[in-house]
Amino acid sequence: MIVCSKAIRQQLCEQRDTLIKRIEDESKNLSRRTDRDADPVDRALRETTQVRQLALIAQARWQVERIQTCLHRLQENLYGVCVQCGNRINPERLIAIPYATLCVKCQSKQDETRRN
Ligand SMILES: [Zn+2]
Repeated sequence: MIVCSKAIRQQLCEQRDTLIKRIEDESKNLSRRTDRDADPVDRALRETTQVRQLALIAQARWQVERIQTCLHRLQENLYGVCVQCGNRINPERLIAIPYATLCVKCQSKQDETRRN
């Protein structure tokens, strides 16, 4: 597989920085919303937003973690290799999800286990 590791590294780093910035922004927004509101509807609405923001933060953190794993694997020349089975990850999949650490097969297996 012909990959330009430098370009991938840069892409991953940029993505990671964007995510970290988003985590920081969302966290700031969250702490700003701690003021008590008398209106229950307003408060409920706010809580719904908070739940969504927390989910966003959690997802972003998870992505950052995966990007870090990829950067590490890039360093060890293991980028694009499935962490589970050791097979090559489809290059098209890597273009779509540069921080993918599992091949399609293992990913769907994992998704299935998570669903059950
Ligand atoms: Zn695999």
